[in-house]
Amino acid sequence: MTEKKISVYRFMSAGCNGCDVQILECLVPRYKLGELGVEVVFTPEEANVLAVTGGINVKGKEELKKAYEKLKPPKLVVAIGNCAITKEIFDKGYPMVGPPDQIVPVNFYVPGCPPRPQAIVSAIAKALGVTLEEKEDYWGTPEGFRGKHEFDSEKCIGCGACAQVCSSDAIEILENGEKRIIKVDYGHCSFCGFCQDECPTQAIKLTREYHLLTDNRKITHVTNEVEMFKCNVCGTYYAPSRQIDWAVERITEKVSIYREYSVNLKKAMEICPNCRREIDNIRKAKKLLAQLSSKAQTRYN
Ligand code: SF4
Ligand code: SF4
Repeated sequence: MTEKKISVYRFMSAGCNGCDVQILECLVPRYKLGELGVEVVFTPEEANVLAVTGGINVKGKEELKKAYEKLKPPKLVVAIGNCAITKEIFDKGYPMVGPPDQIVPVNFYVPGCPPRPQAIVSAIAKALGVTLEEKEDYWGTPEGFRGKHEFDSEKCIGCGACAQVCSSDAIEILENGEKRIIKVDYGHCSFCGFCQDECPTQAIKLTREYHLLTDNRKITHVTNEVEMFKCNVCGTYYAPSRQIDWAVERITEKVSIYREYSVNLKKAMEICPNCRREIDNIRKAKKLLAQLSSKAQTRYN
């Protein structure tokens, strides 16, 4: 039993309430919050910790400020779940005024959609500075659980298909000349698993890791880098080298007639679309000029 006492007041704003259900789950005896010296209270005046779920909407903004002002020291604020970190799927909703940290200071973030009760319990324990039993069976994750992402950098071809299918806009494709960076912000993710399902090379997977507590909102991401290829004509970086190789392999594997042209195919793909278009236009212009000159010759003969 710890001497420390933490009184938690739950503040709910705009979200689906999935995180609130997980907070209630934390109160069952198996998590032993009472033994950690944690109690849930019903007014902010009685609390020293504010557990916020949901992004904050217009109505919630003033309420959140008031609740924070009434907190007792040490006035800890824990943002629980991705809506309370980035607004997640409610990001572009017109009444949303921001995640909690744009309104009051936030000390800890517990990413997840929703986070597992175990992640919330261990976050609270960390806030208390208490070490929990590592071996208890409730820390295990169920089969098929979708947690933090992991890249297989040997397999990723940098195609960006994962970003295309992500309904939460959690994946960004960034380019800095010679590198393409695939950045997954799991603080913005709904853990649907579409990126994993649609990746053509099985290079991204959602692991079973769910203890994602952080005190730094800026580090809730995983990234992978791939080398870009320079166009053989104009020298512009235009596509990942591995994606070009992968495409040529796929074409020749699927369409047997192309196998004997694989070297030419690879050479053609090493020219960027803009240069290919120009080459094509030059060919067309030459053809047109040839047609015009033969017409002119016929007329004068
Ligand atoms: S993880 Fe898969 S889908 Fe995403 S860029 Fe890499 S290869 Fe493409
Ligand atoms: S699991 Fe993948 S596709 Fe689904 S929201 Fe998260 S990053 Fe996007």
